[in-house]
Amino acid sequence: MEKGILYLVATPIGNLDDITYRAINTLKEVDIILAEDTRKTLKLLNHFEISKKLISFYRHNEGIKLDYVLDLLNDGKNLAVVSDAGTPGISDPGEDLVRACIEQNIKVIPIPGACAFVQGLICSGFDTTRFVFEGFLPMNKKGRRQRLEKLKDETRTIILYEAPHKLKYTLDDLKTYFGGDRNITLARELTKIHEEFLRFSIDDAISYFDENDIKGEFVVLIEGTKEDVSNEIAPESVKELMDNLLKEGIDKKEAMKIVAEKKKMRKSDVYKELLK
Ligand code: SAM
Repeated sequence: MEKGILYLVATPIGNLDDITYRAINTLKEVDIILAEDTRKTLKLLNHFEISKKLISFYRHNEGIKLDYVLDLLNDGKNLAVVSDAGTPGISDPGEDLVRACIEQNIKVIPIPGACAFVQGLICSGFDTTRFVFEGFLPMNKKGRRQRLEKLKDETRTIILYEAPHKLKYTLDDLKTYFGGDRNITLARELTKIHEEFLRFSIDDAISYFDENDIKGEFVVLIEGTKEDVSNEIAPESVKELMDNLLKEGIDKKEAMKIVAEKKKMRKSDVYKELLK
């Protein structure tokens, strides 16, 4: 029996006009749609007058449903994966299923469309020829610290996704690792009525959100570092770095170690700088 095909169908990230003809036709033609949130996808399908069987397929059941979905494909059913918004597999379910399909010689076909980070990047004003997409930063402090530590000297544009209620916390972390002067663009509510691009330094972004509520969805874009500053010793930034780490609840000894690593200094020199 001929195997089915898995289609990864991009859906709009806010503006329903951003769906493609091909996406609509694919959703009409497949046997079943795997949806991250069936209620949200039902609204989308109703809007385009598509009636189709839906199966719930989200991050925490992707593993559990895998065998069942592979059986359907091996039985010749054509399936589409859609997420709540944007491109499946990009900080959304899909990746594991694609890998499993490749292993079982099941054809996977992308149906292109909206993807928030691409729209944010092209309007950021930063380098679009070389960039690094990091998705959501790890939630735990250690994981975040390790990730940001690796990114601090990155010369390519850095792209992050962030939930609105964590944006302030993330901006504080960005200041610690990239410095308050680094330029960022916050691409807010892309394709929606209140779409805007906030372009400022990390320090100005922090001040802005001290006075303005954080509303809507954001892509965070950070300009890559222009020069290798790893050998520069800026006494004031040693102190700033130390203060921010202590504020995060990291103990003094550990904080000194991190500062020393970051500034490529000896711990005794960090200590001397702090005494100045
Ligand atoms: N798969 C999606 C894509 O293709 O962009 C991303 C899904 S991820 C779970 C959700 C995150 O994407 C949000 O927290 C936000 O950072 C970003 N995002 C999604 N839609 C957006 C929009 N309209 N404006 C700005 N950011 C958006």
